[in-house]
Amino acid sequence: MLPLLAASVVALAGCSSPQKETKVLAFNPANMDTTVTAGEDFYQYACGGWIKNNPLKPEYARFGTFDQLREDNQTQLRDLIEELSSTQHEKGSIGDKIATLYALGLDSVKLNSEGATPVKEQLDAISAIENTDGVASMIATLQREGAYPYFAFFVSADEKNSSMNIIQLYQAGLGLGDRDYYLQADANMESIRDAYKVYINKLFTLAGFSAEQATAATEAVMKTETGIAEVSYTREALRDSQKNYNKMSYADFKSKAGWMNWDAFFAGLGVKDVTDLDPKQLNFFVNLDKVFKNQTLEEQKYYLSYNLLNAAAPYLSDDFVAASFDFYGKTLSGKQEQQPRWKRALNTVNGSLGEAVGQMYVTKYFPASSKEKMLTLVNNLQQALGERIRELTWMGDETKAKAEEKLASFAVKIGYPDKWRDYSGLDIQPDSYWTNVCRSSIFDMEYQLADINKPVDRTRWHMSPQTVNAYYNPTTNEICFPAAILQPPFFNADADDAVNYGAIGVVIGHEMTHGFDDQGRNYDKEGNLTDWWTAEDAERFTERADVLVKQYDNILVLDTVHANGRYTLGENIADHGGLLVSYQAYQNSLKGKETPAPIDGFTNDQRFYLGYATLWGQNIRDEEILRLTKIDVHSLGKWRVNAALRNIETFYDAFGIKASDPMFLDPAERVVIW
Ligand SMILES: [Zn+2]
Repeated sequence: MLPLLAASVVALAGCSSPQKETKVLAFNPANMDTTVTAGEDFYQYACGGWIKNNPLKPEYARFGTFDQLREDNQTQLRDLIEELSSTQHEKGSIGDKIATLYALGLDSVKLNSEGATPVKEQLDAISAIENTDGVASMIATLQREGAYPYFAFFVSADEKNSSMNIIQLYQAGLGLGDRDYYLQADANMESIRDAYKVYINKLFTLAGFSAEQATAATEAVMKTETGIAEVSYTREALRDSQKNYNKMSYADFKSKAGWMNWDAFFAGLGVKDVTDLDPKQLNFFVNLDKVFKNQTLEEQKYYLSYNLLNAAAPYLSDDFVAASFDFYGKTLSGKQEQQPRWKRALNTVNGSLGEAVGQMYVTKYFPASSKEKMLTLVNNLQQALGERIRELTWMGDETKAKAEEKLASFAVKIGYPDKWRDYSGLDIQPDSYWTNVCRSSIFDMEYQLADINKPVDRTRWHMSPQTVNAYYNPTTNEICFPAAILQPPFFNADADDAVNYGAIGVVIGHEMTHGFDDQGRNYDKEGNLTDWWTAEDAERFTERADVLVKQYDNILVLDTVHANGRYTLGENIADHGGLLVSYQAYQNSLKGKETPAPIDGFTNDQRFYLGYATLWGQNIRDEEILRLTKIDVHSLGKWRVNAALRNIETFYDAFGIKASDPMFLDPAERVVIW
């Protein structure tokens, strides 16, 4: 699922409290650590108390205020589903579907008695493949069922004709997620590869393959994935929107990437009459030729079987689940314990029936007043960003006019969709958990297939309302704030404006700025990938963005490992812009009013920045620092605070940061982009 999200939508963070009778503190000074000063380490100063009081639980690799909200939210959703499960529902109704799927996820006795049985038929079908046409058709079958061997197929807006959906293909096929894991020679990567081999072998053994077969399968998977890694784009290269757009006719594509029988693939998916498509990483698809032709049929079949087993493992018996957790949870992330079964089952229900659960969630937990307040805030932020664009000294009038048009065209989504998704076509049966997960994937695939060469439905949401997150989507030029993020500490109806502008205000500004970051700036007001910049302005933007790249490249995240300034650039620009724009919107809101008196000894400007820092307080394991530095476009919490604020002049003023303070950055090294 990850490549699909990565292809278009930019989320706020990489992954609710019960209806409050009592007021929630806007900002709790107990979350601070006043043994350090703001100028020494602002993150520690603002969040140190919270960090100390919220040690990592064994099931977490990282736990922050975001996750605190997610935990509360999970409890609310569990209550809703348990309440639903306590009554009888008509067969095939939404209530029946949610309750049945959740119950299957909880039924450890049934899951453990089934073992590998739920995947047996699928494994037999792979084993029966006789030639490469059969492989092509099976790649399609697996993609329908939610696994992505070699690459990922999806349907989304044509980036240069954004009102129409077209077929798109994205690089995929790596169980470790990023090419570095296969290609880097250091000891840490080598030990991860060794553990990965043990995991692959374990899956085949659990599925009933002989020791000899499991060894051969492990070699085949490593050989294949290493080959795919070698032809994969780096994660920095994936950020170049123009180079990742390669729409062409189907005939042209087949002549360039003829290693596979694409007709058999599309027939297997259920797509008729392919006219054109966008293979996002064209050279990847061309070069897969080497990988595919270098495999024997047996190796191809082992690789397909592995993709099936790896996708299914979390939904099978406990031995499969434990194998998956030992590798992905423990080795890669440093987690010590699995999430309890109910949370895992809840994730599955959220994944399969997201908007159905979301509809229940907002009815019970989302006050209509929140939407009104958010609309006002969004409007204020939009005005402030417009002012800032007009005042920019580095941008010419021609580009400014286009930027303002784009800003004025933002579509704003708050809370939940106006039109809910129809799940009547999704069949949920009490047979096996994994079989239902497959049915759900097929249902989602059919939903996409129906969109091919059809107009884009701009009313659709790319996150469910119960998701604690937010996003910007460049091809629809929309910003979206699901209901679940509109709660403390992000959005607090009882809080003073300074804290709300520092928290949800910066989140709004962050999503808006994505429309103007290193990727988003390449899309116009209609969401088309077109260059609306003058050459001089584009050059001045890049100069400024490169300053941020260097600043973040210089950060040591752990031991000798540095942050990746190029890869995280879009998010860092968004944090930077979000802070500046929201601060200005807050100042505008104070015009003609008396400056608010300090609260708990903090001025309103101080509370703005404390409100911001509160969002990113977190504890994190070393393994997770290394993993996220490889696969997460967001900077780590500490740097979303300390590195972002070092460019903001009013932050220095608010806390009296001096040139001798570690937080101090020489004004000549600071940058202002938006
Ligand atoms: Zn973002």
